Amino acid sequence: MSEKQESSSTTMLGEHAVVIGGSIAGCLTARVLFDYFERVTIFEADTPPDEAVPRKGVPQGDHIHALLSGGAAVLRKYFPAIHGDLVTAGADYGDPQIKWRSYMGGVWVQRIPSGLESYTMSRPLLEAMVRKHTLAISNIALHVAT
Ligand SMILES: Cc1cc2nc3c(=O)[nH]c(=O)nc-3n(C[C@H](O)[C@H](O)[C@H](O)COP(=O)(O)OP(=O)(O)OC[C@H]3O[C@@H](n4cnc5c(N)ncnc54)[C@H](O)[C@@H]3O)c2cc1C
Repeated sequence: MSEKQESSSTTMLGEHAVVIGGSIAGCLTARVLFDYFERVTIFEADTPPDEAVPRKGVPQGDHIHALLSGGAAVLRKYFPAIHGDLVTAGADYGDPQIKWRSYMGGVWVQRIPSGLESYTMSRPLLEAMVRKHTLAISNIALHVAT
């Protein structure tokens, strides 16, 4: 189970927080609220798929997505074990400035080391991993409200 990020002196804000929508933002919001509430319930309209596949509630899921370095760092902060799971599941990890080919302002961006770190993977895979690590916390529950 993930540990709370804040210290034991963190002011608790209440017993129960509710999040509407259990996609990437909803799961991460639940994880942050877990530091301040005894328990968190996520209400989601879709039944989460067993596989990392696009689903009705996230119609943009089929589009190509990039996870920028700041987002990757936040994910690792809240879910320290997510790195290994992502790489094992096939996500490509490394310096995006070297691994990605970017065309901006009419020129190809030079492939030089940036010191940044990120992953490339499908959005459904990222969402599945974020959901898995969120729901591994016993005081966070997902309720499918159809
Ligand atoms: C073409 C395209 C390309 C994009 N590329 C990128 C990119 O490269 N990098 C990037 O960071 N972002 C990108 N984005 C944006 C990214 O997809 C969204 O910002 C992100 O998915 C938003 O996540 P979210 O969790 O806030 O919302 P969503 O992923 O939209 O999830 C909303 C959730 O709420 C649920 N829901 C809806 N209504 C209800 C209800 N009444 N009750 C309960 N649950 C409900 C849905 O089922 C879903 O799970 C792109 C978007 C598009 C359209």
